[in-house]
Amino acid sequence: MKVGVVKEREVGEQRVALIPDVVAKLVQQGYHICVEAGAGDMAHFSDDDYRAAGADIYPSIEDVWGGVDVLLKVSPLRDREVEWIRPGTTLISFLNPLGNPWQMQHLAERHITAFALECIPRSSRAQSMDALSSQAAVAGYAAVLLAASNLPRFFPMLTTAAGTIAPAKVFVIGAGVAGLQAIATARRLGAVVEAFDIRPAVKEEVQSLGAKFVEVNLDEDTVAAGGYAKDVSESAKHKTQEAIAAHVHSADVVITTAQVPGKPAPLLVTERMVASMKPGSVIVDLAAEQGGNCACTEPGRSICHQRVTIIGAINLPSSMAIHASQMYAKNISTLLKYLSPNQELQLNFGDDIIDAACITHEGQVRNPRVLQLLH
Ligand code: NAD
Repeated sequence: MKVGVVKEREVGEQRVALIPDVVAKLVQQGYHICVEAGAGDMAHFSDDDYRAAGADIYPSIEDVWGGVDVLLKVSPLRDREVEWIRPGTTLISFLNPLGNPWQMQHLAERHITAFALECIPRSSRAQSMDALSSQAAVAGYAAVLLAASNLPRFFPMLTTAAGTIAPAKVFVIGAGVAGLQAIATARRLGAVVEAFDIRPAVKEEVQSLGAKFVEVNLDEDTVAAGGYAKDVSESAKHKTQEAIAAHVHSADVVITTAQVPGKPAPLLVTERMVASMKPGSVIVDLAAEQGGNCACTEPGRSICHQRVTIIGAINLPSSMAIHASQMYAKNISTLLKYLSPNQELQLNFGDDIIDAACITHEGQVRNPRVLQLLH
């Protein structure tokens, strides 16, 4: 089976779908790996590293895009890239299928079997293929470092001959995978951390990381299928904003990560809350791409509003391309092997992982939520 790894063409994308160590393991198992020249450059993996791992390097883009059985990518496709893929190819990548339903339709029309890593179930069985989680963990870590490097204060408490420095106060909103990693990282840097999430089940995890959980009784069910958060009522949103206002006010750093799958990010930090923060404080909004959790966020930009720095972070995992690619490569190669145990595709749609992740097959869009968006 010929498996292709291509250079990512999305602006700012530095990750690569397979790293040389993972290529070596796949080659040992009988896969033929074809890598587009320069595919790993931005993540600091050279063509020679891939060659040494047993991959073939293809100087022409067309050879990889048009000559492989399975194509592995990181970023969702740009529309014209769909045309470059040979009909009959299997594609495995982040695809943003709910944000790109017409592109999914186009993939189906071109008889491309497409697997979206966003749709891997969040279950223990699928954990090693869960690229949303691995990349969210990178984002949570990177968000805290970004906040620390933009904060004109220390994170840890310091007792020095020049006086005592109080530790920074960090407030994390949304304690999913990214939020929990942000809490752990901020704690390691010595900050005092508080966290809030509408899913009460995360309270223990937050506390076990040494942070204080901010409780808000919303009087409604906040958890949807799969353990995700629900899009709560307007009155619950209002109640949440009232409850977190005091915590935003006293924080030096606010990291927001709150998301509801398939919906715009909930607005949690209002302009008034930003204005109430101390000058020099920092907000890192990890939900920027989904519209942001903060009213002042500008996606992809760092702005100063009322002397508070607000960072509309986009694709933070790309900024840590080596480890983000390493984790992604582990996820995508596990899925590849799961789909092709004898180096041949075996798609059993009775399997919940294959059923959930496969968006298009045999000329049809088969994901019900994408189909709904198309009709
Ligand atoms: P996510 O990125 O969809 O959202 C981030 C966090 O924002 C979530 O914790 C969510 O509850 C929170 N949130 C949403 N609306 C909010 C609001 N209005 N106010 C405050 N917080 C709000 O979440 P995720 O990190 O992708 O995790 C989603 C679910 O998947 C969780 O239940 C998680 O435990 C589960 N999960 C399970 C596994 C596994 O079993 N292997 C792995 C990863 C995640």
